[in-house]
Amino acid sequence: MAGDNCIFCKIVAGEIPAAKIYEDGRAVAFRDINPQAPTHALVIPRKHVASLSEAGEADEALLGHLLRVAARVARDAGHAEGGYRTVINNGPDAGQTVFHVHVHVLGGRALTWPPG
Ligand code: AMP
Repeated sequence: MAGDNCIFCKIVAGEIPAAKIYEDGRAVAFRDINPQAPTHALVIPRKHVASLSEAGEADEALLGHLLRVAARVARDAGHAEGGYRTVINNGPDAGQTVFHVHVHVLGGRALTWPPG
């Protein structure tokens, strides 16, 4: 259930601004406000799902859709050939700060491994 204080629900609803780069009936993609790479976008579902762990069986197709949108965003940003990274932080130990599931799309520079 969407919390009244979910910032990403507010972006979906158009209640707070975001630099949107893609949207469809199930997902919205927009630029991260604190970019960690030349391309740093977030892909989120319109439906409030707090985290990957909270996603249920009924969300399987939605999660797949988010990944396909992430690939589209990366391709549109010119990273299909050179590569890019998708990240889903889950929970405090992974650094999740916004509890509305989102796929980070990072590209435009060499990304190190392992991540921090
Ligand atoms: P995470 O730490 O995985 O939960 O990622 C949350 C991301 O949301 C961070 O990279 C933030 O910079 C980003 N973020 C938070 N608020 C906004 C906002 N209003 N517009 C765009 N990105 C945001």
